Amino acid sequence: MVKCIFCGKEESPHRGLHLIKNDGSISYYCSSKCRHNSIKLGRDSRKVRWTEAYRITRTKVKESIQKQKKIADDKANAVKEAAKETKKEVKSEVKPIKKVSVQKIK
Ligand SMILES: [Zn+2]
Repeated sequence: MVKCIFCGKEESPHRGLHLIKNDGSISYYCSSKCRHNSIKLGRDSRKVRWTEAYRITRTKVKESIQKQKKIADDKANAVKEAAKETKKEVKSEVKPIKKVSVQKIK
């Protein structure tokens, strides 16, 4: 099935408009709303909320943001754990200094 170029809706019979350009490319618009937004108003379908392209880009953006947050959290946790381990190692290496009693020699 042919999809609307602007909103991504599938073609329904006896509806919409097929625009055939001089170079032979065919573009389908499901409604005058889509046609006006695309041609007359020159809007980008990725920036119009009610289109399929908008939803796809938004979900991709959300997924990528979530992945970046997870990676950042993992890195932060790894750094914290490494810092804790180094502190433990330093504590175990340092031996407590024995108190030496000093006697005065006469
Ligand atoms: Zn449409």
